Amino acid sequence: MLGMSKSIFRRLLFSFLATVLLGLGLSGILVSSFARTYIYDAKEEELLRMAKKVNAAIKNSPRITRSLQNTLISYDQSFDTRIWLFDTNGKIVATSMQDEVFTGKSVAVSITESVLQGKNAVSELQIEGLQDPMLSVSVPWGEGEKVYGGIILHAPIEGVERTAAQMRETILWATLFGVVLSTAMVSYLSWSISRPLRTIERTATEIGRGNYSERVVVDTSDEINDLAQTINTLAEKLEKVERERHHLEQVRNDFLANVSHELRTPLTAIQGFLEALQDGLVEEEEARQKYYAVMYSETMQINRLVDDLMDLMKLENNEVTLARFPVNVAELINKIAFSFTPEAEDKGIDLAVETADDLPQIYADPDRVAQIMKNLVKNALKFTEQGEVRLIADVDDKYVRIRVQDTGMGIVAEDLHRIWERFFKVDRGRSRKDKGTGLGLAIVKELVELHEGKCSVESVPGEGSTFTVWLPTVAYYRPVSS
Ligand code: ADP
Repeated sequence: MLGMSKSIFRRLLFSFLATVLLGLGLSGILVSSFARTYIYDAKEEELLRMAKKVNAAIKNSPRITRSLQNTLISYDQSFDTRIWLFDTNGKIVATSMQDEVFTGKSVAVSITESVLQGKNAVSELQIEGLQDPMLSVSVPWGEGEKVYGGIILHAPIEGVERTAAQMRETILWATLFGVVLSTAMVSYLSWSISRPLRTIERTATEIGRGNYSERVVVDTSDEINDLAQTINTLAEKLEKVERERHHLEQVRNDFLANVSHELRTPLTAIQGFLEALQDGLVEEEEARQKYYAVMYSETMQINRLVDDLMDLMKLENNEVTLARFPVNVAELINKIAFSFTPEAEDKGIDLAVETADDLPQIYADPDRVAQIMKNLVKNALKFTEQGEVRLIADVDDKYVRIRVQDTGMGIVAEDLHRIWERFFKVDRGRSRKDKGTGLGLAIVKELVELHEGKCSVESVPGEGSTFTVWLPTVAYYRPVSS
């Protein structure tokens, strides 16, 4: 992370410095050169103006006289500029300095030519005998046709150079200041970028370690904030997946615990009886037969549990396919009731069937519907001590509604929604004689839903329960038109 902040810092610094150096430095150099040219032009203008003034004073004096010489001296003093006069041959004939150093020397042919043609000339010269580089302008001496030669004005250009140098120095300082300022700004910028990034990295590491409840909190509203939000969304999803995984694990553990519990009870009983028999503790044949019968029934219970479990697993894994065809409900429930008659008679419970006339056929797998009905009727008889169990079938819209009503113990309201859960038994302490697996209603629910039907329960504790199952009619499932 430190590396990252360093590289952000380096990149920002590089671009800032490049901008400052290119922007300030380069434009400074350009500006100073433009300014130099501008000052030169201004100086040149001024010299030309002065030269024209000098010419105005001497344009009618073709001869070098004392008075002309004095005029030149006085202009030299008032303009602080050296003045030379040259004749039509380009030979210097008079100077304002009164020295004879330059007198008699020739000026450049190009200057002489342009002056004789009536044009001005400008040149930057290093003139022999003059220390500083000079800016010179030449104008014709005379007027119109009468040109006697030329007037040259010299001004040192040192001042111009000094101004340009000052300007460059100022720009250099400004650039240096810009470099220092941009380094400070880059430090702040890279800190303000890397700080939230570091927070994000810390949180992401925590999330990576499995702390899915961690969230990134950054106080920016830029792309870094977007990144933080994306990471938070990711963490939320991970947290959800983890919660689901945890829940599944819980369900799996509960399931294993329930299966073990359901198996252990009959196995412990069988083991106890076997030990007693082995140890020869049961001497009477009659008692022994009783022991065998109990062990047999416990074995049957384990069988039932395994069958129910297999059934439920297959249903939950969508491995059960229904063999559906039109089924006569009245016939089916009468058969079921008939098979439970002995059990009902044993308990002294009245078992009755009521079916509506012209009951439509349902489109179902008859074996599976029989399984549903058996589970419900078995429960009704199991949890009813006296009174009656009624099987009622009638039409309800597109379904045939089958109700199993009993006058048994009923179910308290808080357990009503839980009885469809696998392994749920209202009273775990009830007598072993009941021998439920707690899977019956879970299987009923799965089977009904597989038939695209629905089921519900109503109950009044102490008065009885009604389990209702709706199964689709043939007409509903396969409309006549098709
Ligand atoms: P079990 O094998 O225990 O009957 P079920 O899944 O069939 O398992 O039923 C779950 C629980 O619902 C039962 O243990 C019982 O407590 C309650 N129950 C089911 N049917 C009835 C009923 N007709 N009357 C009262 N309680 C019932």
